[in-house]
Amino acid sequence: MTAGGTMRAAFYEGPRKFATGTLPVPEPGAGEALLRMRRVGICGTDLHIFQGHLDHRVPRGGVTGHETFGQVVRAPRDSGFSAGDRVVVEPLQFCGACRACRMGASYLCYSLKVLGVDVPGGLQEYWAVPAARLLHVPDTLDDDAAAVIEPLAVATHDVRRAGVKAGDTVLVFGGGPIGTLIAMVCRERGARVAVAEVNRFRIEMLQNLGLPTVGPDADVVKFANDWTGGIGVDIAFEVTGHPAAVRAVTDVVRVWGTVSIVAIHAEAMPVNLYQMFARELHMHGSRLYAREDWEEAIRLAATGAVNLGLLVSRRIPLERINEGMEEALKGGAVMKVVVEL
Ligand SMILES: [Zn+2]
Ligand SMILES: [Zn+2]
Repeated sequence: MTAGGTMRAAFYEGPRKFATGTLPVPEPGAGEALLRMRRVGICGTDLHIFQGHLDHRVPRGGVTGHETFGQVVRAPRDSGFSAGDRVVVEPLQFCGACRACRMGASYLCYSLKVLGVDVPGGLQEYWAVPAARLLHVPDTLDDDAAAVIEPLAVATHDVRRAGVKAGDTVLVFGGGPIGTLIAMVCRERGARVAVAEVNRFRIEMLQNLGLPTVGPDADVVKFANDWTGGIGVDIAFEVTGHPAAVRAVTDVVRVWGTVSIVAIHAEAMPVNLYQMFARELHMHGSRLYAREDWEEAIRLAATGAVNLGLLVSRRIPLERINEGMEEALKGGAVMKVVVEL
């Protein structure tokens, strides 16, 4: 790579169409590091982009990819990063001045921009990003596992916000990558966990990870009652976005228990609020992550407490991004697809 050279990148061209082509290698601005990208994970948000659901945020010709892993080419001298360092990127741009930022919730900034959604992301060979958004990846973690640190940070955030502790019973609705990672983090905290899932491939994968599953034909409410002697679980996570799970989620939780909404619900859905009232439940949303959630994710992955490599089902080259998206969208025999740059 030389200054003024070109590089490969993928561009969003509209619903169900990415194109690959070339761009000038970016010149990092003040406070920015230049990264050589190695892996970019494809997630549910990317699939929403692929289907055109986020056209109000992603411009035509936009470069997506927010689950990223790369190596530093060069970085500002006082940044704590230098050439060759393996890094992940916290893909958030926030103002630092609004009410959310001042409350310590900069990840919910009123003018938040997500790198790889609202502004360019990592599906390019070289990427210039603020050095302040980088975190070191330990050498004990391989490249594929490093690409899954971002979703693990989502999971550590969800589990922290829900206050899961040793001895709790936890029911996770949805065993995709985020639901599975939430279950693994809860187990690591000493909780008893079960995952409700309908996809046979995912059920098998969960069982291989030693996670008990419920479904596809089971009555989840009956399961929760049997499992807890009629009391209900301490915490339930809604990670499906599916109406059946939303309808059941308040019925499985004990008195003063917690319901955490993790899935992106684009449409309003019926919820049984009687149980919210009758059992005085707590319900909260859980989105993205704070810096401490990234740090915990890297710690859990590096010690092997959460084995991330097992989640990567397929690695594809940049030029096959459309196929990778279609395959992930089908939701068949696939957990995590990562692009190798
Ligand atoms: Zn994601
Ligand atoms: Zn702000």
